[in-house]
Amino acid sequence: MKIKLDRTRCDGFGLCAKHAPDHFPLDDWGYAVLAGGPAIAPADEAAVTRALLDCPVHAITMLPDSNWVNGEPAPDGTGAPAAHPV
Ligand code: SF4
Repeated sequence: MKIKLDRTRCDGFGLCAKHAPDHFPLDDWGYAVLAGGPAIAPADEAAVTRALLDCPVHAITMLPDSNWVNGEPAPDGTGAPAAHPV
């Protein structure tokens, strides 16, 4: 799973930091920062999903899975995007 944090929407409620503190540390003003990049390890997906669902301003969103291309699984199963048709 990959996620995105829109800091312009964050209102600093801190719920994400409560659920997944390693991924959403709060800055000095109490606003969330996305730590460790957008890719979430499978072991952390439950906590990050809880943070995503509980964010009252929907600042955390899930990005499309890189193993899918145009709504279909990548043809070689590696997650690599399909070659662009010429
Ligand atoms: S739960 Fe949402 S609003 Fe609250 S700190 Fe996290 S990203 Fe910001």
